[in-house]
Amino acid sequence: MKSVISELSVLVTDDSLTQRQYAKELCNDLGVKDLHDAANGVDALSVLEARPVDVVLIDLEMPIMDGVELIRSIAQKKIASSVIILSAKDPILIASVGTMAEADGLHVLGTFQKPLLPDALECSFLRFIHDAKQQAQEPKPAPENEVTAVELGEALANGELSLAYQPKLTVHGLMLKGVEALARWRHPQKGMISPGVFIPLAERHGMIDMLTRHLLNVAFQHKKNWQNYGLRFNLAFNLSPLSLADSDMVDWLCKLAEDYGIAPSEITFEITENALLGELASAIRTLARLRLKGFHISIDDYGTGFANAQQLSRVPATELKIDRSLVHRSAARPQQHTILASTVDLAKNLNLTTVAEGVETAEDYKIIFDLGVDLVQGYYFSKPLFPDDLLAFIKTGLNQVRKQNEIK
Ligand code: C2E
Ligand code: CA
Ligand code: CA
Repeated sequence: MKSVISELSVLVTDDSLTQRQYAKELCNDLGVKDLHDAANGVDALSVLEARPVDVVLIDLEMPIMDGVELIRSIAQKKIASSVIILSAKDPILIASVGTMAEADGLHVLGTFQKPLLPDALECSFLRFIHDAKQQAQEPKPAPENEVTAVELGEALANGELSLAYQPKLTVHGLMLKGVEALARWRHPQKGMISPGVFIPLAERHGMIDMLTRHLLNVAFQHKKNWQNYGLRFNLAFNLSPLSLADSDMVDWLCKLAEDYGIAPSEITFEITENALLGELASAIRTLARLRLKGFHISIDDYGTGFANAQQLSRVPATELKIDRSLVHRSAARPQQHTILASTVDLAKNLNLTTVAEGVETAEDYKIIFDLGVDLVQGYYFSKPLFPDDLLAFIKTGLNQVRKQNEIK
């Protein structure tokens, strides 16, 4: 584990010799000894293929292979994980490339307009060191939780799949507005399997409808139990883009709500932004029908995909969930903050309820509060909870959260 900047290995990628030397000098001044450079994306890839490097500085405008292509290749080949993005272009462009890189799974230490300043570079290096330390302290994930479609089928039959619920709170007053249902799979031998693994598996193997219908029954049963205790709050459920193409889904959902005695107006379906880019017409047909029946529609992970304002305005949505990559740490990233603020504005102009997800710190919460976002969700308030723990949170945990945030 690296504990000081002098132990870092750094690759500077820039086509301009002057800029390259300038960046290398800054690194040198900060004590970096293991320093490499490349004049374009192709050279950078060969450096990275030859040796591991901790941090890659990437200039966006380069001939042969530009910074955007380089970032893609690094992410695909998994030959580096932490990058700093630089450009002489406008801050919005740089920040959007940063968002793209994060969506590709890279760790973006900073996105800066040139000239690169020594303080900014030092901060980025320190962030790398801080995060590396944290990672070393976290328990290692189970050896690659590889699972097969057959195992998933068995899990469905054996009732190994369940739901955890993460509170969605009002920004003002931190009142419980609703919960988001998140699928959980505890494999008897392999432990917890992430939905990031088994949902795509189900989608690839034609099992997503079966899985969705099973989990919806579980969720509606829970909601009915809460209603019986006198607890009424919204239930949000993630729908796969594939479910939007399933023409029977809407009627099936209406019947399910009726069977459980649940008002559609207390249910929100979360659809990722990218689901709206594919089979747009059929997706909109399903969403429009769900809206007509009274269900709410939320556009999830907004900010990671490429839906534009016009596409957004065509979707019969009621809520916009701003992705964690825009929310978390935006206090320290001016460009990201600008995009966040304009996203909130856009949502308000479209009359959508705004939700910030991935609020992890008091600092994140403050930014969201100041921007006038409606709802918050994130580890800072609560992790996803199984039903018993959710009840305890509603009874006592929520008051503690309010107290910590000085809400009476
Ligand atoms: P999502 O819909 O964006 O859900 C939010 C994810 O962020 C959840 O991960 C949640 O545990 C995590 N999260 C919440 N607060 C924070 C925070 O403050 N910081 C960080 N770093 N993470 C936070 P999870 O449960 O692993 O779910 C991953 C994804 O799997 C979900 O992303 C959703 O797209 C998908 N998914 C989960 N359950 C279902 C389901 O029942 N059906 C479908 N189709 N997809 C599901
Ligand atoms: Ca979601
Ligand atoms: Ca999300």
